[in-house]
Amino acid sequence: MRYEGALYRPPSEAYSLIVQATIGCSHNKCTFCSMYKDDKFRIRPTEEIIEDLTLGRQYYKKVRRIFLADGDALIIKTEELIKILEKIRLLFPECERVGIYGSPKSILNKSCKELLELRDLGLGIVYLGVESGSDKILKKIKKGVDSYQMIEAGRKIVDAGIQLSVTLISGIGGKADSILHAVESARVLNQMKPHYVGLLTLLLEEGTELYDDVQAGRFKLLSPKEVLEETKILVENLLIDNCIFRSNHASNYVALRGTLIEDKELILKQIEEGLKIDALEDKELYRRL
Ligand code: SF4
Repeated sequence: MRYEGALYRPPSEAYSLIVQATIGCSHNKCTFCSMYKDDKFRIRPTEEIIEDLTLGRQYYKKVRRIFLADGDALIIKTEELIKILEKIRLLFPECERVGIYGSPKSILNKSCKELLELRDLGLGIVYLGVESGSDKILKKIKKGVDSYQMIEAGRKIVDAGIQLSVTLISGIGGKADSILHAVESARVLNQMKPHYVGLLTLLLEEGTELYDDVQAGRFKLLSPKEVLEETKILVENLLIDNCIFRSNHASNYVALRGTLIEDKELILKQIEEGLKIDALEDKELYRRL
């Protein structure tokens, strides 16, 4: 397979065939993100993407899932995405699901009809980085949209019958806005009603704006216990149903998992157990992106 630059994929796409439909991220401005900082964003020509899919067919006998990387491949024009999805159907009739990263802006730029068309051709899941539900925090981290647009984008995917998987970042409001982050993020999720919620915990790399803010004392990171306390407030405020909730990413201090709403008490219990761990700070050494 041909890959360019660093490759990122959601944890649930670990066993998927990954094909880069775009290189880098179309937004590339979030203050905490170092993922695609060195890549100049571009959309690969459809012919190249199809060549990679053909190569993939030669390598792998059975492909259950395909993930179209990099950041925001949903920005590709619908007519081109249709060609890609049609080719996937032809080459991989056994493929059960095609997944893609979608930014709120590229979701909002697609009409409901276009999303339905993509769904009918096999687009089964869209991964959306919500990060925070707070307008104040979304502005600070330069996400490029407010919470209203974020909810609208998420609802559009759900209403099109496509699975929606969203990520939030614990600690993204710092000490100053931790409670705001928890309460507002719950508000956004309650309205968006995603099928999956994944929690990451803020982990900054050198070269990002937020890293510089921490070094300069302008942003105070949460301690591991404060992260769990923030998560507790988030979960307490969640009212969503039929939603798989997990915080089993390598950046997290404690792994949480359950299906909302029935496992809400169980998740809160897992958090309480996590708060009792004396050596929680030691986990800092093992966290990674
Ligand atoms: S967080 Fe997502 S949208 Fe923001 S710069 Fe990174 S890849 Fe792009």
